[in-house]
Amino acid sequence: MSRFNLLPNNNGAYAPNTSTKVHEYSEEIAQLKGEIERLDLITQAMWNLLQEKGLTDEDLVKAITDIDNARKQKKKAMEEGEKPETVLCPNCHVPLQNNGKLADRCIYCGHEIITSPFKN
Ligand SMILES: [Zn+2]
Repeated sequence: MSRFNLLPNNNGAYAPNTSTKVHEYSEEIAQLKGEIERLDLITQAMWNLLQEKGLTDEDLVKAITDIDNARKQKKKAMEEGEKPETVLCPNCHVPLQNNGKLADRCIYCGHEIITSPFKN
């Protein structure tokens, strides 16, 4: 038995599933680390290709700075009450709901569309 099984939960009772949760989270963290390593490798390969095309580190830093500033401005505008941009389903023309995935899926007709691969 793991020592985590002996930790009390918020009600002062003992949580029998704590070690199971720790195991699940450990697996999820390992999967996320693998995904980060994969994306890091792809990013490095893309940057190497762009350097071969003549782009410099200064170009990359400027692009990162521009994107970061735009995101900060967008976040500030949302905090000040700006509503998110509404994208209409091209099939039935109702507003699409952002589901957090790459492709938005219309809840009315089922049409799927990638509105922006970099939405957040
Ligand atoms: Zn639709």
